[in-house]
Amino acid sequence: MSSLERFPLRSGVSTVVRREQLTPRMLRLTLTAPDFGPDWPIRQPGEIITLLFIPQGEPIVLPVVGWRFPGGAPTQEWRNYTVRAHRPVPAEIDVDVLLHEPRGPACTWAAAAQVGDEVGYAGPRIDFAPEPDAGWTVLCGDETALPAIAAILETTPDGQPVQALVEVDGPTDEVPLALRDGQRLDWVHRSGEPAGATDVLAAALRRIELPEGVGQAWGAAESKIARDLREVLRDELGMPKSHARARGYWLRSGEWDLSE
Ligand SMILES: Cc1cc2nc3c(=O)[nH]c(=O)nc-3n(C[C@H](O)[C@H](O)[C@H](O)COP(=O)(O)OP(=O)(O)OC[C@H]3O[C@@H](n4cnc5c(N)ncnc54)[C@H](O)[C@@H]3O)c2cc1C
Repeated sequence: MSSLERFPLRSGVSTVVRREQLTPRMLRLTLTAPDFGPDWPIRQPGEIITLLFIPQGEPIVLPVVGWRFPGGAPTQEWRNYTVRAHRPVPAEIDVDVLLHEPRGPACTWAAAAQVGDEVGYAGPRIDFAPEPDAGWTVLCGDETALPAIAAILETTPDGQPVQALVEVDGPTDEVPLALRDGQRLDWVHRSGEPAGATDVLAAALRRIELPEGVGQAWGAAESKIARDLREVLRDELGMPKSHARARGYWLRSGEWDLSE
């Protein structure tokens, strides 16, 4: 998205049409709205959609212009999610929601969501953008980055080497993904340690061997972990800042926000 574009591109109210438990803690919600048809402006894999979570049954108040809300609007709980898949016909998107502990408004709402429930949306916005000169790709992140990593894996050029590292608690949290030639996915387990509080992902990233030539790396995780990933990519693996990005996707309670 150009920085001159006004956010949100679109906003409206979508309806839950399916729910599927991918793992005990990962829930796929399929949402539909007329906006999600063929002219929904998705341009890159893993684009961001901002969803409004309010207790089921309460009125959904959308921004009227830019990101301004009508006066007197009730408290708004907007959270960012990833468009895991977009099907222009029949105007659907999939959103994979991690049901984390402690729960916040988003995963509390999602856990209780039923077919027919309504959720406000705003977006989409680009997060990952392929670098035209990159001959290989490294992807790394925790469960919240998994939907984007899965979407990116589906769209890299055929035969391009891709190394993905995904941190989950253990084997029951692994979501099977179809890999193509040249793609490799390694699961990194934190084995009962709290999410966002270990260095297992940064340590796994430190151990990979980068291919020759120009490549690109993208990652997302808890804010402080994302900072560690950036340091490994740029300072230890020697990747230029322009081609090595890792974003804070959530903030562990009590931590400073270090998202980039
Ligand atoms: C661009 C972008 C894309 C994202 N895409 C996805 C996605 O596709 N799927 C997805 O599940 N998440 C995604 N996230 C992360 C999601 O927005 C956050 O996890 C968000 O905090 C969840 O909101 P909540 O209301 O459930 O919890 P909050 O009210 O924000 O937080 C409540 C408590 O939960 C803790 N918490 C928040 N997230 C986690 C977590 N992952 N693990 C453990 N504890 C946590 C917080 O530290 C806090 O203590 C994305 C974030 C960004 C910025």
